[in-house]
Amino acid sequence: MSPFVIGQEYERSRLLEFIGSRQAQSGVLWGREEPGCLICTSGGRGGKKAGYSDERLSDGTWWYFGQGRTGDQSLSNAANSKLSSGKFSVLLFTTREPTAREVADRGTYGKLFTYCGQFNVSGFDQFVPSNGNRQGDKLLRFRLLPIGDERYNYYSEQSDLDIESSSDLREMQYRLTSLVSSKSEPRMSLTEYRSRSAAVHLYASLRSNGQCEACGSLAPFSRPDGRSFLEVHHLTRLADDGPDLPSNVAALCPNCHRRVHYSVDRKEFGRKLQDAIALKESIIAGWEKLINK
Ligand SMILES: [Zn+2]
Repeated sequence: MSPFVIGQEYERSRLLEFIGSRQAQSGVLWGREEPGCLICTSGGRGGKKAGYSDERLSDGTWWYFGQGRTGDQSLSNAANSKLSSGKFSVLLFTTREPTAREVADRGTYGKLFTYCGQFNVSGFDQFVPSNGNRQGDKLLRFRLLPIGDERYNYYSEQSDLDIESSSDLREMQYRLTSLVSSKSEPRMSLTEYRSRSAAVHLYASLRSNGQCEACGSLAPFSRPDGRSFLEVHHLTRLADDGPDLPSNVAALCPNCHRRVHYSVDRKEFGRKLQDAIALKESIIAGWEKLINK
């Protein structure tokens, strides 16, 4: 979970320390400490002069522009590739220059970063500025969805993918995995994002068979629809929302879920859980049989 408070300002060193990075340039940061996380800083791109800028929309989502200062932006750029993969949670910060007084107080001209919250990338498209110094360049524009916003809450979502009609877990696993493998296509719609997210969560809850996938305890209670209540944890991202591969989610009892996010041994606990889920997934896929032949 993120230690940052929305609306509060931070020094760049605090961002780098949290994520475990020494990157010199701003833009998109990543590092060893939080491998499921990207820090995206917005601002300082020249704004209107450049013919484009990051933008918060009225529904709380953001357009966040890709990296690449000249010419067309490409997915082969490391930051753009990470953003498009859908595998990371984004911590978004806006940037401002310090006032003269702040420079005097802090002893540095370094920019200040205001935390805007956690997001998932739901998709991206291409944007070509019609004016400014990037006019005519093909820029990548990523859509960021706020995490924890009820509008994107999977508990209330029905999945349009109807994967429950699949005859078994293996078929569901196959269908969900093939959906994710086409993720590099731009323009994924919000409806599709939500639907896939709900489908992946449903899959995890069916795979768990009502038992916590970490400690094996029975779910503490049932939902109104009769399904067992387990919380879906995302193994590789900082946050639990959003669509992904079946192998990246685990259905956990509330205790284990707290443990994997907050406990002193959370990293080790998370690694063991990841191994256990990988084994489960390989059994469902039938790889075990192939290996043993
Ligand atoms: Zn448990």
